[in-house]
Amino acid sequence: MIVPHHGKNVRSFRLPVRALQFSAAALGVLAVLTIGTFVSYRYALNVASTERAELEQLRQVNVNQHTQIEELAKATAVLQDDMNRLNKLDADIRKMVNSDELPASRSGITRPAAGHSGQGGPTAKPEVNDLVNLVQELQATAKAREQSLTALQAALVDRNARLAATPSVWPTSGDVTSRFGWRGSPWGWGNDWHPGIDIANDYGTPIMATADGEVSYSGWYSGYGKLIQIDHGNGIVTLYGHNSELLVNVGDRVKKGQVIAHMGSTGNSTGAHCHYEVRVNGTAVNPANFL
Ligand SMILES: [Zn+2]
Repeated sequence: MIVPHHGKNVRSFRLPVRALQFSAAALGVLAVLTIGTFVSYRYALNVASTERAELEQLRQVNVNQHTQIEELAKATAVLQDDMNRLNKLDADIRKMVNSDELPASRSGITRPAAGHSGQGGPTAKPEVNDLVNLVQELQATAKAREQSLTALQAALVDRNARLAATPSVWPTSGDVTSRFGWRGSPWGWGNDWHPGIDIANDYGTPIMATADGEVSYSGWYSGYGKLIQIDHGNGIVTLYGHNSELLVNVGDRVKKGQVIAHMGSTGNSTGAHCHYEVRVNGTAVNPANFL
């Protein structure tokens, strides 16, 4: 109700309580809606910006990964080249070692043979799967190379041992005064069979083992005088006779070139010399065949 000044008519309004209540409620709802919208707008803005940041991050990760894959592909290609060179080296060494000394190669390599290096074809971005396959192939190849090189090493160790145990050097220095085979007897009674070679030099000249082996005799032996005998395995034995002094004993392991005695003229001898003999499976053979 409105009461004006100066006694004019008093006007009265009637506002329904319900309408007031409704308006208040509507205002309330409006306020809530407005705040809600604002909040959700801000929230959406935040989410959008977070998503953008995440996307950017993902994009960066993607770029980085691509770069890494490219680098990995390059490194793998270098490894492949290295492996190809190793394969060729392996094959070259195998050619130098007799095939009967080696087990067969189990490499299973399907790389291009040496001398053929033609390449080409379309290029493509490296795929992770391709790289994984390549690495697996390289691993298998490396394993095969290792086996092959181990076999080569064993064959070469074997060969070296065989070479070391094969008489291949002169037992001493001097003049060959008597060769292997029939000769006029040094004592003037017809011919006799000489089972070795005689090398004459000064009394006391060093006598050396002509191969690795084990001393199987060291002492006086009939016409040989002071004798050294060395067993080299594989049925090969060497003898060094007429020495003045013996330096090794039965059972000693000796190396090729090791001094085993000093030259003398013991036993049936006309002067200082070394009677050098090589026996294969008990039969004297020409030592010159080993020199
Ligand atoms: Zn002799």
